[in-house]
Amino acid sequence: MTKDADATSAPEATLAPLGALGPLGRAPLSPAVEDYLKAIYALRSEGGAEGVVNTQSLADYLRVAPASATNMAKKLASMGLAHHTPYRGLELSETGEKMALEVVRHHRIIETFLAEVLGLSWDKVHDEAERWEHVLSEEVEQLMMDKLGHPTRDPHGAPIPSREGTFPRDEGALYLCDARAGGYFTVIQVADEDGATLRHLESLGVRPGARLFVERNEKVEGVLHLKSENGEIRVLGHAPARGVWVQGVR
Ligand SMILES: [Zn+2]
Repeated sequence: MTKDADATSAPEATLAPLGALGPLGRAPLSPAVEDYLKAIYALRSEGGAEGVVNTQSLADYLRVAPASATNMAKKLASMGLAHHTPYRGLELSETGEKMALEVVRHHRIIETFLAEVLGLSWDKVHDEAERWEHVLSEEVEQLMMDKLGHPTRDPHGAPIPSREGTFPRDEGALYLCDARAGGYFTVIQVADEDGATLRHLESLGVRPGARLFVERNEKVEGVLHLKSENGEIRVLGHAPARGVWVQGVR
C-alpha cells in the first residue's frame, strides 16, 4: 500500500474482455483501489459503525487529502465495490469485501513466505508485502502456500483468509492494555505496521503464542507490568500494548 497513493483520476477497467478476468471474475484492480478496499476493511474491523467508514478517517489512515478519498469513494461506488452515502461514509459491497479479503490474503501469505522461507525478520516483512500484494498471481500464491504447508496465520499472528474469504474469529480477544491485573494471557496477534514497535515487543518477549502474566496494569500511568514465563518482570506502555491482542487463559 502506498500511503500517499493518489491515483483516483486513473481510469479503471470495469469491463474486461473474456479471458482477462481475475479469480473473482473481474479485471485486475489498480493498487490504489486495492489499498482503499483494504483500508475500509481494516477501519471497519477497528469499530466503524455498522460497517460504515467515513471518508475523513479513510483519508487520515491512507495519508491522502480528504478530496482524494471523496473522489475514490465515488469511484468505488461506480465500480460496484462499495456503497457511498455522502456525509455518512463507505460500506464495502459483497464484491468489494471479497476483493479486500483477497488483498489481505496476498499480504499475509507474502509476509509468511518472506519470514519463513527467506528468513526476513518480522519487523520488515510488512513493508515488503505492501508492495508485493498487488502483483501476486494466483499461481504463485498457490505455490507459496504449498511451500509453506498452508499456514493459517502470518508472522504477526493475523489469520490468513481462505480463498473463499473465511477465517477463524478470535472470540474473546482483547487489547493487552485492557487486560486485568492478576490474569494469564496468550498473545494472539500483534499489529504489523510499525517495525520499531515490533522490535520493542520482541525484546520484551511479546510475540504471538507467548504467555504473559499481567502483574500490574496502571491505567493512569499507562503502563503494564508483565511477568514472562521465566519470571522476569517487564514494563510495557499502553501505546504499544494497544496493538497487541490477547486471550485470557483459564
Ligand atoms: Zn502486514
